[in-house]
Amino acid sequence: MKKKVLISIPSYSEEENVFPLYQALDEALCSVYDRYEFEFLFINDGSTDHTVEKVMELMEFSPYVSLIDLSRNYGKETAMAAGFDYFNHDALITIDADLQHPPATIIEMLNLWEQGYEDVYAKRNKRNGESWFKKSTSRWFYKVLEAMSDAPVLADAGDFRLLDKKAVESLQELRETQRYTKGLYSWIGFKKVAIEFDANERLHGETKWNLGSLIKLAIEGITSYTTAPLKLSMYFGFLVSFAAFIYMIYVLIKTLILGADTSGFPSLMIMMLFLGGCQLISIGILGEYLGRVFIESKGRPLYFIENKYRGKAFLDDKKDEITK
Ligand code: UDP
Ligand code: MG
Repeated sequence: MKKKVLISIPSYSEEENVFPLYQALDEALCSVYDRYEFEFLFINDGSTDHTVEKVMELMEFSPYVSLIDLSRNYGKETAMAAGFDYFNHDALITIDADLQHPPATIIEMLNLWEQGYEDVYAKRNKRNGESWFKKSTSRWFYKVLEAMSDAPVLADAGDFRLLDKKAVESLQELRETQRYTKGLYSWIGFKKVAIEFDANERLHGETKWNLGSLIKLAIEGITSYTTAPLKLSMYFGFLVSFAAFIYMIYVLIKTLILGADTSGFPSLMIMMLFLGGCQLISIGILGEYLGRVFIESKGRPLYFIENKYRGKAFLDDKKDEITK
């Protein structure tokens, strides 16, 4: 029996990359077609271009291509979750549609999986074509996250990874709507191993990330992964009140000895503004967590599917199941 491997490809306006990606995957994987049966699942995340039409065209050409068409743009994290839910295979590989992840790495991943690893993640060792700004912000982000959380954070490890059935079935159970998938991978555990790859430049189109969405993901990463900011603001509150207490004693003694004077307005102002600022930040942090509780408490499903098309090669499987 061939092992079944699902290749999950979240795609948002990637019409120009659909065919090149399939070609690259086919070329890289054809040498192991005798051992594995791949299903190439495009997850259309509310594209504004003709990604769906392109994938349908590809489906005419290859029976191993399937398509999930989400009802709108939910973001990559949710699109990946749709891939996890679709999974009914032996292993899953998530890969970007823009060919930044070299398909040849998949062969290495499969080898490590055969050796018993359940989460084989690819780390990029060079970030070709990414700006200095993006590189340094992401480095700092991981440092901060690492410092604040208990579970190890895997810096530079993206979503390009192979997950064993066990790991995917665990991820299927994590239904939070505000997802930071990289945090989830390390939270579920399982035997992990890293391999390195050289990230390429995007083949066509532009990255959909901008500073705003990166900040949003960073806040999501921190607040969905750790409650350290809440503690931090409490510690800081203690520190400031302690300092204020010392200062109070100082002022009290000074007034008793030297009498009251009206000077000290600037220092008063500074203290008030500073404390006001700290309070607003703490309330903001609290609000961020409370907002998350509010959203999760609605218990909404993660996404809705507009259409689902399964590759012709797998339709027979279903018939088998029915007759059994
Ligand atoms: N993507 C998605 N939904 C989105 C944004 C991106 O499914 O809302 C997909 C996109 O099509 C690509 C992958 O996520 O396959 C990575 O996106 P992108 O290349 O824009 O990010 P970057 O590589 O710059 O981190
Ligand atoms: Mg990209």
